[in-house]
Amino acid sequence: MEEPSNKEVHKKNQFKFSKFKYKFVLTLIIFTVTMFKIKSIESWASIGNSHEEEKENLKPITLEIKENIRAKMTFLINGYTISIDGKDIGTLKTKKEAEDVLIEVKKPFLDSKEEDSNIEEVNFLQDVKIVKKLSPFFAIKDSKEILSLIQKGTKEVETHVVEPGENYWTIADKYNISVDDLIKANTEKDPENIHPGDEINLIVFKPLMTVKTTEKTEYENEIEYDLKVEYDETMYKNEKKVKTKGIPGKSRVVEKVIKHNGVEVDRQIVKEEIISKPIDKLIVKGTKQRPLTVATGSFTTPTRGSISSRFGQRWGRMHKGIDIAAKVGTPIKAADGGTVTYSGNRGSYGKLVEINHGNGYVTRYGHCSKIHVNNGEKVHRGQIVALVGNTGRTTGPHLHFEVIKNGVHQNPSNYLSR
Ligand SMILES: [Zn+2]
Repeated sequence: MEEPSNKEVHKKNQFKFSKFKYKFVLTLIIFTVTMFKIKSIESWASIGNSHEEEKENLKPITLEIKENIRAKMTFLINGYTISIDGKDIGTLKTKKEAEDVLIEVKKPFLDSKEEDSNIEEVNFLQDVKIVKKLSPFFAIKDSKEILSLIQKGTKEVETHVVEPGENYWTIADKYNISVDDLIKANTEKDPENIHPGDEINLIVFKPLMTVKTTEKTEYENEIEYDLKVEYDETMYKNEKKVKTKGIPGKSRVVEKVIKHNGVEVDRQIVKEEIISKPIDKLIVKGTKQRPLTVATGSFTTPTRGSISSRFGQRWGRMHKGIDIAAKVGTPIKAADGGTVTYSGNRGSYGKLVEINHGNGYVTRYGHCSKIHVNNGEKVHRGQIVALVGNTGRTTGPHLHFEVIKNGVHQNPSNYLSR
């Protein structure tokens, strides 16, 4: 419906152009001026709308223009330029200002030295110079600005203000940087403990200068002692004793620690002075073959059979040993090596064998049917000393076995391995 009418208008215009030439030229001028105005408004509007996108692109250009203008200024004054490996970093008004900047760069690493250490040397790894130069007036910079540039390696500082519910991981994700970098960029903060409103650096700073510090540190070091073994033929095999207690020695160590911007890169021992030598631990081991009749310190079960009565209170009386039920004639063995101190009848024990093991222990074997050893005889561990019987006060054939340690009855079950 509309198209035909538009075409009609067009045709009419063409007609007017040929016929009313002057009127049209005037219209054209007004049109052009209007269009130009619209165009410029649009371009301004577009800057306003896509501000974020344009900013990044415009910034370096604007800076470049400024630098160009500055460079072309003919108003030159004396300045002091700090250069790193021949590259100018910035110019300051006075030599003192430039020197102070370098002092400030070194300062944090002097303050962070370890306790008990002295900084012996501080220098820059790079070739750092202050050069007097005729510089354009506008090139002179503030010392704070130059210090920040040297320490951070960038003029840019981008930060993020923490919002509720955010943490390092969500922030790192948001800006597409690694959590590690975020931690490095915020060394003074605890990654586990940030709060809404905290300002987080988003740029990992790379200082332009490396401050090399050489620290001398002194400390006392413990020197370990060695273990030495001596052999003694008068002592039995498996016997050992400590002859000399080991005492660690002490030394005074001087170390040189090299750090780059506070991070340790090398450590060397410069001097080690012995204060006291360690005293070696000396143990003596026996070599003499142990006679079989000498107690080994562990008991073997004196006879095979089941325990028919335990150690302790029984029928209102103390049972001073254990009863091992076995057939009459079952062999009874010495629980350990020792000397027979009793062999014969003894009241309610019936036929009794008592062995003193020479190490504080005495064992007794009661109710025997036959005794194979004599008083004073040396016996070895496991040697048959008697046979099971039911002599003395018994209700049936069994071995009554007692263990006495330094005169006190013990529970034999605690000494017998099963
Ligand atoms: Zn008994």
